[in-house]
Amino acid sequence: MLPTYQHPDYSSIYAVGVIVQLHPPEATPLPVGVPKTGQMTEAMGMAVAHNIAIALGEMSAHPVTPTLETICFADFGNTGILFLADPVLPDPATGKRRRAIALQGAWVGWAKTAFEQYFLAKMRLGAAVPWFERLALRGVGLSLVEPLAKSSSTDCLHGTPC
Ligand SMILES: Cc1cc2nc3c(=O)[nH]c(=O)nc-3n(C[C@H](O)[C@H](O)[C@H](O)COP(=O)(O)OP(=O)(O)OC[C@H]3O[C@@H](n4cnc5c(N)ncnc54)[C@H](O)[C@@H]3O)c2cc1C
Repeated sequence: MLPTYQHPDYSSIYAVGVIVQLHPPEATPLPVGVPKTGQMTEAMGMAVAHNIAIALGEMSAHPVTPTLETICFADFGNTGILFLADPVLPDPATGKRRRAIALQGAWVGWAKTAFEQYFLAKMRLGAAVPWFERLALRGVGLSLVEPLAKSSSTDCLHGTPC
């Protein structure tokens, strides 16, 4: 997929989800892949909705791409881990991330349950990322999407081969 999450040959086809653009940095004996989280798919959905709105002429803005930076509440049996991976895939050259933080405790499970209730409620109300969530993400130095350079990515949205 292109950085706009369009099909390279069919510009009106978009795809989102962890299957789409998260290739493991190197082959492993078992196909375990790389860590994947719900927030990454949320960011892809947000980017694609934004880019489709531009392609349809509904708004004038720069196309965006997901940052694939993530913060995640993960269950581990009777404990849990809150991790921040920025970005999820390490730099192929250095093998490192800008930031990687992990906190463990049973409280993560409780926080995850509370977050689930909050997430479902805000989606039912049609509030994808309310201002206070944006503020909290900015507080920990994360963003869901980032603008693409204007040139070719804008052309792709309007059907010009990229
Ligand atoms: C055991 C486990 C624990 C996890 N825990 C956490 C966690 O604590 N926190 C967290 O953030 N993330 C967690 N994740 C990861 C998270 O669930 C995924 O990152 C997220 O669900 C990915 O969403 P997605 O929509 O991209 O893909 P999926 O949720 O995999 O959705 C893809 C959908 O496509 C459907 N599908 C597949 N092929 C076809 C086809 N040919 N035609 C039609 N439909 C098709 C599938 O049935 C599925 O419903 C966990 C994952 C697993 C497996």
